[in-house]
Amino acid sequence: MPAKVGDQLANFIPEEIINEVKNNVNILDVTSQFVDLQKRGRNYFGYCPFHKERTPSFTVNEEKQIFHCFSCGRGGNVFRFMEEIEGYSFPQAVQKVAEAGNVSISFDWSALDDGQQTTNYSSAQNRLIQLHEELRKFYHYLLMNTENGHQGLIYLYDRGLSKETLDAYQIGIAPEDGRLAAQHLLNKEFTTEELQNSGIFVGDQDRLKDRFAGRVMFPLRNPQGKTVGFSGRILPGSNHYENHPDAAKYLNSPETEIFEKNTFLFNLDLAQNEARRAKELVLFEGFMDVIASHNEGVGNGVASMGTSLTSNQIKAIERTSKQVLIAYDGDKPGQKATLRAINLIQDQSSRLKLNVLAFEQNLDPDEFIQKYGGERYVNFVLNKRLSPIHFMRNYYRQEFSLETDNGKIQFINVMLEAIAKIQQPIDRDIYVGEVAEDTGVSKDTLLQQLDSQSAKQQNHQSYQEQDQGNHHHFSGNSHSEVGLQAAPSKKKSQLEKSELLLLYRLLYNSETWLLIANRDFHFQSSEVETVYMLLSDYRDNHQDIDGEIDPGAFLQALSGAEEQRLVAEVMNLEVAPDIGEGEVEDLIYNIQIKGNIEQKMQSLDDEIAYAKSVDDFAQIGILIKEKIDLLKQIKSRVN
Ligand SMILES: [Zn+2]
Repeated sequence: MPAKVGDQLANFIPEEIINEVKNNVNILDVTSQFVDLQKRGRNYFGYCPFHKERTPSFTVNEEKQIFHCFSCGRGGNVFRFMEEIEGYSFPQAVQKVAEAGNVSISFDWSALDDGQQTTNYSSAQNRLIQLHEELRKFYHYLLMNTENGHQGLIYLYDRGLSKETLDAYQIGIAPEDGRLAAQHLLNKEFTTEELQNSGIFVGDQDRLKDRFAGRVMFPLRNPQGKTVGFSGRILPGSNHYENHPDAAKYLNSPETEIFEKNTFLFNLDLAQNEARRAKELVLFEGFMDVIASHNEGVGNGVASMGTSLTSNQIKAIERTSKQVLIAYDGDKPGQKATLRAINLIQDQSSRLKLNVLAFEQNLDPDEFIQKYGGERYVNFVLNKRLSPIHFMRNYYRQEFSLETDNGKIQFINVMLEAIAKIQQPIDRDIYVGEVAEDTGVSKDTLLQQLDSQSAKQQNHQSYQEQDQGNHHHFSGNSHSEVGLQAAPSKKKSQLEKSELLLLYRLLYNSETWLLIANRDFHFQSSEVETVYMLLSDYRDNHQDIDGEIDPGAFLQALSGAEEQRLVAEVMNLEVAPDIGEGEVEDLIYNIQIKGNIEQKMQSLDDEIAYAKSVDDFAQIGILIKEKIDLLKQIKSRVN
């Protein structure tokens, strides 16, 4: 049984609020934050952000305030878009759309917090955060204002960090006497157990000591700007350093209930705003690169904490910016990590635009600044970026010896594989030309090879789709996030087209309901039939004096993603505004009579094929006669 219209609507947001948000936001503004859209005719087109594709099949209809992808079938209104693209719940989507559209309404969103995206800390976790915040203030104060911090401060100023940067990052010092920090927290009424749970202190209950004693302290902040861990750098020349010459240069907090390394990105809280302005996020290998860059005015950097890039981090990056600049170290491991990051990001996200900064001479960004100064650094960041393909070209030219045939073949294979993933034909052509130049192999030969490579990739894709999406008659793709690839847009049968068109008329032309009334009419497709019943139900409560309804409001009231897709697809059809003479009668005939006949025909064909396979000639004769009768029925009605 179909769900009642409006079941999901509640979710504690009053309908007036939802409508106010919807009416004050243009879906074009929201979708274009994720997709490059070009106007073509009445609609806007772009590459669908939900899967990889070669030709744009994602459309936004500004007039109707809906989106629809011809390829994967996704569609709906602006809230549906945010639900699909960010994984938000419906109330979260409403809130985010309100924020994105600067709609100021008096509504307490915090009441809706269902903990999906926003972090919900338990009270124990909140205590742990308070403890870190207290330590952050303590360490920073000691560095900036006391004899304890003198040596550390000299070291940091020597490295060129400004006071503004030290304050912005709340850099501090852990006193050499490891009991001071513990005592400070106990005085602030934190318990011994809480200190032990923080991962910062070691030792027995009465003799808890700071693991970071004598180190320069860098607070690690969560996306809300709260300290959840520390990284401590050993201070050259300090007593601690003299006594432990083998100690690690950097020491990080262990994982705790509030600090998870594989989701953490250093500086995400500050970089978010900068990245919005710069329309780009810079991804560094180390957090010192982030701080050194901030010091030179490049504030949109983030870094993982000594782990290689994870898919959770890529998700966080995607939520922050459409464009990423990878700025890993110039040495061999850094270049390898860059290659890995490119592949990982391209596999996971089709909508992130990528560039690479290639540091020469084994330098990392921090060292580059030390060596050449800030001005040259900023210039380098802005002007010396490479496309991923050009990065790979440089990388693989060193990796394979292009003097040998074997090296050339390996080089061609990896490069064509990468080029095959590129969507724009002009870019592909240019890059293939470069590979031809590098290897002396003719461009035509390479293009041929590229075609067969692309075909292979596509076959692989459609195989995956069939596997996952074949029970979804309409959308041709499953809703699950696993099915990210597009289904090639299937040609619709006449029955399918007729059903969609009739549904369009039912949405936009109230007189259609008069023509359909007093008939026992049903759609063949269960999806369309479901929407038909929901629409009929909706009309009972929402039609105006002329019997019309607002299709956008109906779309809004639907709970299921499948139903929203279908209605968005129908709303997006290009259809003459007025019903043609006999149009609805024809549609009903196509759906009810002809649709039935076609279905019967299909099952007859199946039975004939089976009878043939077992050589049952008598049965074949009977079935073929039935088939001829059916064909006569179709012909008796002139289309
Ligand atoms: Zn799509």
